Amino acid sequence: MQIETEMTPAFIGLGSNVGDREENIKKAISLLKNNRKIKVKKVSSLYETEPVGYVDQGEFLNAAIEIETDLTPHELLKVTKGIEEKLKRDRKIKWGPRTIDLDILLFGDLRIDEPHLNVPHPEIKNRAFVLIPLAEIAGQIIHPDGKTIDDLLRELIDVKSVRKYR
Ligand code: ADP
Ligand code: MG
Repeated sequence: MQIETEMTPAFIGLGSNVGDREENIKKAISLLKNNRKIKVKKVSSLYETEPVGYVDQGEFLNAAIEIETDLTPHELLKVTKGIEEKLKRDRKIKWGPRTIDLDILLFGDLRIDEPHLNVPHPEIKNRAFVLIPLAEIAGQIIHPDGKTIDDLLRELIDVKSVRKYR
C-alpha cells in the first residue's frame, strides 16, 4: 500500500513576454507536472499584462497555479530555477524580456526571509498581474499577513493594465 504523506499547498506565478508566450507557460507547467513530488491542482486563465519597470518590451502573459508538494521551499526554488534555465530565460536586463519567470508566491503558511528566497513573495500585494490570476484560483486563501487574496486585490488601485487573454 502506498502511504500518502502530507503535502503542502503552494502557489506559483508564471510570466512570459518572449517568443511563444503561451507555449512557454504551458511548457513550464508540464515540466512542473513531470516532477513526481509536485501535483498541479489548479491553473488560472492567461492574462495579458503591460510590462512594469523596464517598459520598453513586449506585453507579458501571466498565470498562477496551485500545486501540492512535498519538496521544501528551497528544493522547489531549485526546480523552478531549473525550468527557467531550461526554457532559456534571458537574465541580461533586470525586469527585462524573459522567456519564462517562475515565482513562488505562497508556500503554505511559511514565511522565509533569506537573501535568495522570500516567501510570501514580497511583491504579491503590489502587482495586479500576480493578484488577478491568483484571485481567480485562490481568492479565499489567506495570505500570512492575515488578508485574503480577494481583499488584497480589492485594495489594489490600478488593475486596468491586466486583461483576460484566454
Ligand atoms: P522578479 O521575479 O521579482 O521579477 P527575478 O525573477 O529576476 O525577479 O529574481 C530572481 C531571484 O529572485 C532568484 O534568483 C531567486 O533567488 C530570488 N527569489 C527570492 N524570492 C523568490 C521567490 N519567492 N520565488 C522565486 N524567486 C525568488
Ligand atoms: Mg522571478
